Amino acid sequence: MFEGINIIDFIRRFNDNDSCYSYLMEKKWGNGFSCSYCGCTQSVKGRTWYYKRCRQCKYDESVTANTVFHGMKIPVLKAFHLAFRLAAKKKGMSTVELGHEVGVQQKNSVAF
Ligand SMILES: [Zn+2]
Repeated sequence: MFEGINIIDFIRRFNDNDSCYSYLMEKKWGNGFSCSYCGCTQSVKGRTWYYKRCRQCKYDESVTANTVFHGMKIPVLKAFHLAFRLAAKKKGMSTVELGHEVGVQQKNSVAF
């Protein structure tokens, strides 16, 4: 889910819980709301700014619903960092990838 974001962008971009919720809002509802329960596309304000309440069935949906971040006992910012590190780790780390992670090309990076 963090395609094209290197670690410097990541740290700059996600520095508090709100910035993580904003990102999830964009991913989830950037193209419009659709209720997970009834499919209604009309929403009203939910219990917090990162919730949307379905106009039809009144289901109050969190932006984290149906994502790995739902129901986590840790702050979403920490969960984001864990997910980012995990995604990087899964890929394995060559020097090229490591360079990519901080946003430098192999040709202009220092010799490792
Ligand atoms: Zn609904």
